[in-house]
Amino acid sequence: MEQITQYCKSVLNNLDCYRKTIPLEIALGAAGVLIIILILVQSIRFVRKRKMTGGKEPGFKPAVAEEDSDVASEESYIEPEAVADQEFVTVKETKIPEPDRKIVEEPEPEGFFSRLKSGLSKTRNTFSTGLDRIFSGSRKIDDDLLEEIEELLITSDVGVQTTMSLMEKLVENTSDISNADSLKQKLRAEILSVIQKGQVRKEKKILAGPEVIMVVGVNGVGKTTTIGKLSARFKEQGKKVLIVAADTFRAAAGEQLAIWAEKSGAQIVRHRDGADPAAVAYDGLEAAIARGMDVVLVDTAGRLHTKVNLMEELKKIRRTIAKKLPDAPHEILMVLDATTGQNALTQAKLFHDAIGLTSIAMTKLDGTAKGGIVIGICDALQVPLDYIGVGEKIDDLQEFQPEQFVEALF
Ligand code: GDP
Ligand code: MG
Repeated sequence: MEQITQYCKSVLNNLDCYRKTIPLEIALGAAGVLIIILILVQSIRFVRKRKMTGGKEPGFKPAVAEEDSDVASEESYIEPEAVADQEFVTVKETKIPEPDRKIVEEPEPEGFFSRLKSGLSKTRNTFSTGLDRIFSGSRKIDDDLLEEIEELLITSDVGVQTTMSLMEKLVENTSDISNADSLKQKLRAEILSVIQKGQVRKEKKILAGPEVIMVVGVNGVGKTTTIGKLSARFKEQGKKVLIVAADTFRAAAGEQLAIWAEKSGAQIVRHRDGADPAAVAYDGLEAAIARGMDVVLVDTAGRLHTKVNLMEELKKIRRTIAKKLPDAPHEILMVLDATTGQNALTQAKLFHDAIGLTSIAMTKLDGTAKGGIVIGICDALQVPLDYIGVGEKIDDLQEFQPEQFVEALF
């Protein structure tokens, strides 16, 4: 304390001596200049600090996008605390590093529903766009509106019969329908109900041995391809799969099937071209039982369904399979080509009458605007639609799910 008092005294003495040598005006002028310089320096520091924080008050965090705030301003935002300690950090240096951005922008893996939607894009173009057009604006429910809905259903290949019954249900009990939008919701519910009612499934009994699925359908609908895709699905489930090449009529059909068997990792039983299909089926079943297979997929010929002998040939194959395994075939799966529209329905009815179908696979939905046929088929046949094909690749076969299908259409 004593030391401090002495130091202060010496400073005051010095000042006194300076006051005697320097005139008072000069001393005051110098002090004024010093004050001005100090104010200037402080102002410059303040402006620099504001620039670095993007003009934000300390503690501010950009929560929601502001008007006029573009990407650049968001990028230049730095935490105020960080600036306080790093006066010389530049805006450029604080940008998010490139690799981090790439991770953020990576597309999510394509899900089941988005694949279904893209597979149905042609049908959606007709149906969904049509619905949007019909129900756009606040339309009142009148004959014109109903006629437009009916026309849309027919154009999408729902079929005359199913369209008529859908229209009847649509105008039934309309007391709770106050506007066009609730009518649209009713249409959606009625379509879903028609599809679901068609999914009548009989209980499947597999007593012993492998599950046998006999695949039928006319030429070119996608039987062989569907067998390949199904085989891959079963293999994925960890099952042992054997494919039987009972389409001996078409040259190179066996070869095509062998390629699919290899692709999916399944075993195959085939004879030479032109061999008796029932004999191939018999051998196939024998091999499958001996090798302890879980699933047997039997490919068959598809010459025109109007030829009586094709139906007889299919019945003979079915009888032969039953000789080896009394409860087999467990499924008779008919493959239908959606691009053929109403023709698919005619084919299915003929096959159903002749050999009795238990399951349907609808292929090539990706290649047609006639996806409405799915609704017509479910309504008319009352045979469950189990699979839909939305492309040529091995994983382009989806299990048919009515809710998802209708969701994709609307
Ligand atoms: P099969 O005569 O009934 O055995 O018919 P194939 O299996 O040989 O198929 C005929 C053609 O249809 C082939 O070119 C397949 O690639 C094609 N195909 C099968 N399923 C689909 C599908 O879901 N989408 C598309 N775009 N093509 C398919
Ligand atoms: Mg084939």
